[in-house]
Amino acid sequence: AKALGRNSHSFFTKEMNVGILRRFEIEEQMRGALERKEFEVYYQPQFNVESGAVIGAEALLRWHNQSLGTITPDEFIPIAEHTGLIVDIGRFVIEQALDFLNTWQMQSKQHYTMAVNLSPRQFRDNQLLSFIKSALQQSNIPAEYLELEITEGVLMTGQSFIDDTLAQINAAGIKLSMDDFGTGYSSLSYLRQYDFDVLKIDRSFVNGIALNKADRDLVKAAVAMAHSLDLMVVAEGVETKEQLTILEEFNCDYAQGYYFSKPLPAKAFIKFVNTYTYK
Ligand code: C2E
Ligand code: CA
Ligand code: CA
Ligand code: CA
Repeated sequence: AKALGRNSHSFFTKEMNVGILRRFEIEEQMRGALERKEFEVYYQPQFNVESGAVIGAEALLRWHNQSLGTITPDEFIPIAEHTGLIVDIGRFVIEQALDFLNTWQMQSKQHYTMAVNLSPRQFRDNQLLSFIKSALQQSNIPAEYLELEITEGVLMTGQSFIDDTLAQINAAGIKLSMDDFGTGYSSLSYLRQYDFDVLKIDRSFVNGIALNKADRDLVKAAVAMAHSLDLMVVAEGVETKEQLTILEEFNCDYAQGYYFSKPLPAKAFIKFVNTYTYK
């Protein structure tokens, strides 16, 4: 037992230690972050591939903290998810995004869609849908302009309340989007099983379409398949004109990526769309 103890202790490397300490620090800081107003929602515009017009935006969360600096969502979302803090943080994102959409629509006198990411833990909040519905009402946004992006991770839990919530989302007229398409194992069967409206082709495939045939073929097939299921297709992570031209050739509906714009704070986003000219 002694030997085993020493042995297992040696697994606890210095790097792991640093990782765990940082995790604790992030968790601790995150507990008061909402009250301290450290979170800010950024918006990345989405474009119609054929016309070049702005059609909407994806809300992406940013966190600026005194002692930690700016932490990327790839690092803090999993921790927020693990602690359950994502429930309140996620509600904040929904409220902010819908409020912003209202402001944007009022001043442009046009309709746009707003895509918001939802992670698995948020579905365990049985008030999720009533919260979303009242947020829609408060910001005066018809349900059809809200798009909820989920990944396979949400569906994989296989819990029945997930199915109920998704059915309620459909019934409410809110759009459902499959995020990171192509990275999981079961996206195809989920597309058949649930009523999705939008499919987002993962950045890793878009990244390769101008360089290799395999990625090009995959993206082309994904667009055709999505269309045959009556889904609209968004290509994410578009960084070059060349990628955009190929996507247009494949009849991909919408695109977002650094080629057009990085995610921007609300004010900068409005400025961007007001000065943006296309084609
Ligand atoms: P995602 O939903 O797949 O979001 C797309 C990510 O790709 C964003 O990273 C975006 O900034 C980045 N991106 C967009 N265009 C390009 C491009 O042309 N090139 C490259 N290299 N990257 C691009 P971000 O904002 O760091 O977010 C990372 C992930 O964190 C998101 O991936 C999403 O899973 C999660 N996340 C962000 N905000 C929220 C949120 O409010 N709630 C939840 N539950 N998750 C969020
Ligand atoms: Ca997303
Ligand atoms: Ca993605
Ligand atoms: Ca639907």
